[in-house]
Amino acid sequence: MESSWKDTEAAAFSDDLLKLRVYTSRLLGHEEDLVLHGGGNTSVKIREKNIFGEEQDILYVKGSGWDLGTIEEAGFAPVKLATLLRLAELKELSDIDMVKNQRMAMTNPSAPNPSVETILHGLIPYTFVDHTHADAVVTITNTPSGEDRIKEIYGPNMMIIPYVMPGFILARTIYLMTQGVNWDDLDGMILMNHGVFTFDHDAKTSYEKMISIVDRAEKYLEGKNLGAPKNSDALPADPMGLARIRQSVSHSFGKPVLADQNTASEAIAFSNLENVAKLTSLGPLTPDHIIRTKRVPAVFASDTPQEVIAAYEKDYQRYFDALNDGETRLDPAPRWGIWPGHGAMAFGPTLKHTGIIKDITRHTMQAIYRSEKMEKWQALPEKDLFEVEYWSLEQAKLKKAGAGKPMDGRIALVTGAAGGIGKACVDHLVEAGAVVAALDINPAITDTFASSSVIGIVCDVTDGAQLKGAVETTVLRFGGLDMVIANAGIFPKSAHIAEMDEGNWDRSLSINVTSQQRLMTYCIPYLELGFDPAIVIIGSKNVPAPGPGAGAYSVAKAGLTQLARVAAMELGSKGIRVNTIHPNAVYDTAIWTDEVLQQRADHYGLTVQEYKTNNVLKQEVTSHDVASLAVQMLGPLFAKITGAQVPIDGGNDRVI
Ligand code: ZN
Repeated sequence: MESSWKDTEAAAFSDDLLKLRVYTSRLLGHEEDLVLHGGGNTSVKIREKNIFGEEQDILYVKGSGWDLGTIEEAGFAPVKLATLLRLAELKELSDIDMVKNQRMAMTNPSAPNPSVETILHGLIPYTFVDHTHADAVVTITNTPSGEDRIKEIYGPNMMIIPYVMPGFILARTIYLMTQGVNWDDLDGMILMNHGVFTFDHDAKTSYEKMISIVDRAEKYLEGKNLGAPKNSDALPADPMGLARIRQSVSHSFGKPVLADQNTASEAIAFSNLENVAKLTSLGPLTPDHIIRTKRVPAVFASDTPQEVIAAYEKDYQRYFDALNDGETRLDPAPRWGIWPGHGAMAFGPTLKHTGIIKDITRHTMQAIYRSEKMEKWQALPEKDLFEVEYWSLEQAKLKKAGAGKPMDGRIALVTGAAGGIGKACVDHLVEAGAVVAALDINPAITDTFASSSVIGIVCDVTDGAQLKGAVETTVLRFGGLDMVIANAGIFPKSAHIAEMDEGNWDRSLSINVTSQQRLMTYCIPYLELGFDPAIVIIGSKNVPAPGPGAGAYSVAKAGLTQLARVAAMELGSKGIRVNTIHPNAVYDTAIWTDEVLQQRADHYGLTVQEYKTNNVLKQEVTSHDVASLAVQMLGPLFAKITGAQVPIDGGNDRVI
C-alpha cells in the first residue's frame, strides 16, 4: 500500500486543520482495503474560542453515518475534549449515557452524533488520530497465532489491544492500558480482530503511519505466497435456481429482497472450495460488518433452498437463544449466500444494500481464504459478535437509513419502455422503490434511464428467443420477477376491412397479441416464485368502443384483453393477479407530434386544447396518469382484484 498524499493538494488546506482532516480522511476512505462503507473513523483536536471568548479544546470526530471516502467538514461532530477525558475516567458508562453526554458536550447542536469511538479518540494525546479496519492486518489477527505474528511484524513499539467490545469498553480498556505509558514510544495500536489506530500532531505523518503499518502487513502476507482459490469453473447460469433462492430468503426476511450475484472468477473459485461451508460458518472479518452481513452466509449446497433457509433460521434461533439478554430477535434471514459453482449472492431490499454487502463480502472471502491458507481462519466467538449485532448503537445506524419505499425489493419488467406510457411506468416503478428491466426494440433503451435501478434491454418482442433471453437477463440481474407491465404495441395505419393490407394485419396481431402471450408464457414460471406477483396489460379504449378503420388494432387489443381474462382465471390460484387498463387519447407520446395534433383538432373543428380534453370530465389524460394507475394495480390497493378492466380516458360516453 502506498501513500496517496499529494503536497500540491494538501497545500490548499495547510492552515486549516479541519480541512486537512477532511483531506486525509478521504484518502483513507478511498482505499477499499482500509475501510468499507462507514467503517473506520478519524478525528482532529482544535483549540478554538467560544462565544464568550474563552479558549477550549474541541475534538472534531467523524459523525455516525458518514463515510470516510465522502466526508465533509459538516460530517465531523465537535465535542468538548475536557468532557470526554472525564467520561474516560468513569468505571462504567451505559450507551444511553454515553450518547447523551457526548451530545451535551457538542458545540454545534445540529452536527451528527459523534462516532462510537469518540472517547477513545479524545484519550489519544495527539492532534490527528486515524483508525481503519485494514484487511491485511485483520487477516493476520484473525488466526490462532495472530498476536505472535503481529509482534513479529511490528516489534515492541506497537501496542496490541486484545479484542473488547467497541465503544466505551474499548476506550476504558485503552485508558487503563496506557496509564504510565509514554505515548511518544508508540508506533500505533493494533486492535485484535478489529483494526489499527495511528496518531501524530501532523496530518500527513498520522496518515502515512497508517499506510506504512498496513503496507508491512501486506508485505508479510505476500511473503507467505498465499495465492487465491483456483477452481473458477462456473456452472451454467441458472435463473430458476436463483429465483427459488431469492423466494426462500424473501420469506425469511418477511419482505421481498433482491438477490445480487457476484459471479467474478474469485467469487466462483471461493464458492468451489470443498470446505466452503465450514470456512464461512465462523463469522465476519470485523464485528462491525455483522449489521450488514449477519454472522454467517447461507450456503446453498443443496437443490432445495427452503431446506437451506430452514436450517439457517434454526441456527440463528440457537445463536439468539444462547446469547440474548431480553433483546427482541431480528429477522432470521441471511444477508449473503454462497452458491457452489455460481459464486456469492447479496440479499437486501435495495441495490444500495446489496452493493454494500457485495463489497464487504468480497473482502471477507479473500481474508478468510488467506488466513486459512496461512494457518487457520479464526473469527471472534459468537458472544462477541452477538453483542455488536444487538448493540443499540449499531442498530441505530441502520434505522438512520429510513423506512424505505413501498416497492423496495420488488422486481418489474416493462415492455415498450423507451417512450410514452412504458417509459412513464418505469419512472413510476423506480420512484416507488422497485428495480426494473426496461425492454424496447429501440437501441436507445440502454441509455434511456439514468437510474442504477433500471437495466435497459434491447428486445424485439416478436422474437421469442430474444424475449425469453430478456426475461432471463432480468432474473439473473435482480434475482427474480414480481411484476410485468405488458405495454409494447403498435397502432397500424388505418384501413377499412375491404382494403385491409395483410402485412399490417399480421403485424398488429403479432406485436399486440402474440408477443404478449409469449411474454406471459416466459414470465409465469418466475412470477410463481415472485413476491405479490401481478401483471398489468395495457389495452385500449378500442376494446369496449371500436372505431371504423381500426380493425387490425381493435381486434388485436380485444384479443389481448381476452388473453388477460383467461390469464386472470388460470393464474389466480397461484396468487398472480392480472388486470387491464384501457387508456384513450394519451397525447404526450412520440406519435402525437404538435403537427399531428393540430391536424386532428382541425379535422374536428376544435382547438388543440379542446381536442385533448374532448371527454366527459374535460381532462387531459397523460402517460403519467396511466403509469400511476398501472403501478397502483401492481400494489396493495389491487391486492384483491384480478381480471378487472379499468378505462382511463377522462370518461368516454361510448365506454360508459
Ligand atoms: Zn473500528
